[in-house]
Amino acid sequence: MKVFDELNPPARLLLGPGPSPVHPRVMRALAAPVIGHLDPELIRLLDETRGLLRDVFRTSNDLALAVSGTGMAGMESVLGSLLEPGDRLVVCAAGFFGQRMGELAGRMGVAVTKVEKEWGEVFTPEEVDTAVAGAKPKAIAIVHAETSTGALQPMDGLGDVAHRHDALLIVDCVTSLGGAPVLVDQWGVDAAYSGSQKCLGCPPGMAPVTLSPRARQAMAARSRPAHGWYLDLDLLERYWGGDRAYHHTISSTLVYALREGLRLVVEEGLEARWERHRTNAEMLWDGLEALGLVLHVPDPERRIPSLTTVHVPDGVDEAEVRGRLRDEYGIEIGAGLGPLKGKVWRIGLMGHGSQKANVILLLAALVDLLKRP
Ligand SMILES: *Cc1c(COP(=O)(O)O)cnc(C)c1O
Repeated sequence: MKVFDELNPPARLLLGPGPSPVHPRVMRALAAPVIGHLDPELIRLLDETRGLLRDVFRTSNDLALAVSGTGMAGMESVLGSLLEPGDRLVVCAAGFFGQRMGELAGRMGVAVTKVEKEWGEVFTPEEVDTAVAGAKPKAIAIVHAETSTGALQPMDGLGDVAHRHDALLIVDCVTSLGGAPVLVDQWGVDAAYSGSQKCLGCPPGMAPVTLSPRARQAMAARSRPAHGWYLDLDLLERYWGGDRAYHHTISSTLVYALREGLRLVVEEGLEARWERHRTNAEMLWDGLEALGLVLHVPDPERRIPSLTTVHVPDGVDEAEVRGRLRDEYGIEIGAGLGPLKGKVWRIGLMGHGSQKANVILLLAALVDLLKRP
């Protein structure tokens, strides 16, 4: 039998759309001994994680937990637990992840009304209101930070629109949680999900989720149980916050990591962390513009602080630059998706990766690779 070489992945500076650099304290947490999913110590750590998740989501919701899986598991658990076949969902889609929410809900037998805009634009409450008035949906789904375009959706007023029409507001905050204000209670969000590997500084594998009391009522009022088992938030809540009945073997390793990542967020302070992401993003934006590059989202107030989309200049081989950044500098950045494929680079300054030194290194590498003065 062939014995392969010892594991030796390259050191990469992860400045793409995720995963992001993992904080050293989280790396140490990952090395702690594995324990059982019903061990009293793990239950205690789950309780602490719940409290930390409430702080980070800025919510008093009772239901706050982390689904085992990546951000997509968060999306699937929320849509699949709140909606049943025949329900109507209005999806605001101005990018890849908005489109995906619509596609996923459609697969679940949900009737989807899609409101679309150009990739890079955001929705006004009036636009959402008009779409909802005609459709009478059970829920409205929107992406807060659209990682495919770099656009940050303003959230003020959307909760009012949803609740005036007796609909739930579902928000994807995978790329914003821990990197930009996510104010679940203040915004009137009924369901939010995120991922551990973007601005929370953890490896992929855990998807934080929270549901408002209204969302829980809607879940309880379903005419049949959720289609799936693994991502059923009703069952998961029993394990995380109820009778602790066995549901699945949660990874203690990933719980340690998430708890440590969240502890780091709370230690730094949410406001200070948002400010750090914003300051480093502004430095990146100024630097890219000084190199003569054009940002895809013109209005700085509409840009995601943790994910920047920048146009590939004419005559430059998009993939070659990305490849050389990786091979010569050890830096990973992302390519464009959908209509922006080949047209933009996506640069992430997420969580532990949002540092001044990283901005300077990337800008210097681009000066070299793009042969800028
Ligand atoms: C990354 C991302 C997802 C999906 O998360 P995975 O961890 O890749 O499953 C969903 N929505 C948005 C906005 C994202 O950026």
